[in-house]
Order: sequence, then structure tokens, then C-alpha cells
Amino acid sequence: MKIPFLNFAATHQPLKMEMMNAFEKVYDGNWFVLGEQVKAFESNYASFNKVDYTIAVSNGLDALHIALKTLNIGPGDEVIVPSNTFIATVLAVSYVGATPVFVEPNIQTYNIDPSKIEAAITPKTKAIMPVHLYGQACEMTEIMQIAEKYNLKVIEDNAQAQGATYQNKITGSFGHINGTSFYPGKNLGALGDAGGITTNDLQLAEKAKVLSNYGTRVKYVNDEIGFNMRMDECQAAFLNVKLNYLSTWIKQRQQIADWYNLHLSNINALVLPYVAPNASHTYHLYVVRTEKRDALMNFLTEHEIGTLIHYPIPPHLQKSYSNLGCSKGDFPIAEEIAETCLSLPIWPGMKEDQVSYIANIIKQFFQVQ
Ligand SMILES: *Cc1c(COP(=O)(O)O)cnc(C)c1O
Repeated sequence: MKIPFLNFAATHQPLKMEMMNAFEKVYDGNWFVLGEQVKAFESNYASFNKVDYTIAVSNGLDALHIALKTLNIGPGDEVIVPSNTFIATVLAVSYVGATPVFVEPNIQTYNIDPSKIEAAITPKTKAIMPVHLYGQACEMTEIMQIAEKYNLKVIEDNAQAQGATYQNKITGSFGHINGTSFYPGKNLGALGDAGGITTNDLQLAEKAKVLSNYGTRVKYVNDEIGFNMRMDECQAAFLNVKLNYLSTWIKQRQQIADWYNLHLSNINALVLPYVAPNASHTYHLYVVRTEKRDALMNFLTEHEIGTLIHYPIPPHLQKSYSNLGCSKGDFPIAEEIAETCLSLPIWPGMKEDQVSYIANIIKQFFQVQ
């Protein structure tokens, strides 16, 4: 049985007519940027995310970039980021001219370890950017307490965890201003690039909206050096349809993760995902760890099972960040995760027999019954 890493058809095929109708509305309306679809999506996503404001933007990286710029973070400032994140979190910090400061994750949750944040704070620190990695919420109550104590801003990178919760509060609603991504493969994906900003602060929301649209409040009147980072009407129309299914899809992802946990539970050499007390996991990715990662990945490839590594090189060891002067061994937990993690196939609509088939091949690899 051939099993891809990701299968869009399972979610998109049943929605075909609804999506076609959404497209037709935009097509016939002849209004393609900053129209009623974007307006509706901003309102719909704000309700889903239990925040007062959403700003629809071009992609997740731009969302984080605008969020930092909205907070006036810039050259000379330091921003704390996890040492094991996707590069976009770090790039956003670089774009505003600030310096990323890495803090190690917890080896069980793979999320930034709140107990290590205080040691990284200096007089230059302006903000913390927690990343809800793989779909699990960070320990946000603890992070918000540290931020308050040191008067820091918090920008959640919620690209992978729409709908996750910590102590029953939804991710993307803790930080002062937060970014998320609607890249096709994310839990809520557009049919192209798209992203969003969430906040409860009216002033930040207005500024972020203005920055995303050339820095203009009134057409052709330019108040600040802004960007063209708007979401287009087609993507907003598609997202308005798909948002109605997001909660169901998250439940399906959690069910698939439960199946994996069950079928893989007796393999001692394999570390399964751990969910922290008070946190929920939306399983954007189902990530296991093993010392034999590369061999296991090859074995699964030979059996036509798609896997990926999230992520093979931590940001501090990327060539693009050689100017930070980091070397191997500086962030050993991030490095260990990079060397041992493997993401198994998961998508809403995946069936239990596919999960058990994959589990059986993994058992074969580890010679476990
Ligand atoms: C996908 C992702 C982003 C960037 O989103 P894009 O829409 O691809 O720009 C940022 N942070 C994390 C953690 C991501 O997974």
C-alpha cells in the first residue's frame, strides 16, 4: 500500500462544489483585493480564535513580520525564540533588524522551555515568540507571567496549532499580537499562500492592518513605510468555506494520533508524542523520535510511505545565520531533536487501516511483534 505524507484530496474532494461556488462569487463580483470575502474571513477567524481582531495577510512569515513591526521592535532589540523552530520565526525577527536569541525546548513537548527563558533575558530583550510546534500549545500561562514580570511583549507563532488550547484558552489569543499561517499544508490551509494576525488590542490591530496595506489609512495618503502583504479575495473565499470544517479536521487528526499511539506503543526504541498537562495537541504533525531515524526513514521510503523531517537543521546551524556565531553543541536539545525526529503521514480523512499498516512496517523495522 502506497501512503503519501499528505493527501489533500481527502478533505478537498467533498468540498469541491462549495469551493467552486466560493470562487464563482469572487469571479462574478469582480472585486479581488480587500473586499467582502477578506472582511468576512477576518470576522469568522476572530470568532474561531476567540479574539477581537484578525487581519488577513499574505502568508505566515509576513504575519509575524508585521506583528513585530507593529510593536516597534527593531535594530538593537532582542527577541527570544525557540532553538528548534521553523526558520520563518527567526526570519521575521531578522526582517525588522532585531536579534534572535535562542532558548532550548523541553525534550518531551518540543516547545520552548519556560524555565529557561529568564536566563536569556537581557536589558535589550523586547519580546518572546513562543511557537506551538507540531500543533501542541506551549505553556502559555507561565510564558505570559515571565513577560509581565519583565515587561516584554509576546508574539505567538500559531502557524501549526490553530485551535489548540492551554488551560482551556486557545492559542493565538494569549500574546499581544500573534501570527498564523494558512499555507496549504497547515491545519487550515488556503489554495495558495495566506496568513493571519490575531490580537485583542484595537490599536495594534489597526496599525497591523495599515502596515499590511502600504501604510495607508486613506488611499494614496502614506502614513508609514508599510508593505503590500494583503490576503486576496480568492484565498479568503476558500478559507471561509474551509474554516467551517477546521474543528472536525482537528478531531480527526487527534483520532489518527490516538491510533498511532495505540499501534506503536510497544516499540521501546521509539519516542511517541508527549502532551503536557493542561495543553492540547492538534497534530499538525505526528512526530516520533529514534536514534535510527535515517534508517527508519529509508525503510519507510522503500515501502512507499512518505515521511518528512521537521526540521533537519536547527536555525542556529543554518548557513544564513552563521553571523550569529553559533556552533554545533550550543543548543544540544534542538540538535538532538533535529537528528532523531521523523514526521509520519497524517491528514484528516486518513483511515485506521493506513495507520496500522504503517505501524506494522515500523514494527518490522524494529523487529517488534
Ligand atoms: C509555516 C510556518 C510559518 C510560516 O508560514 P508561511 O505561510 O509558510 O509563511 C511560520 N512559523 C511556523 C512555525 C510555521 O510552521
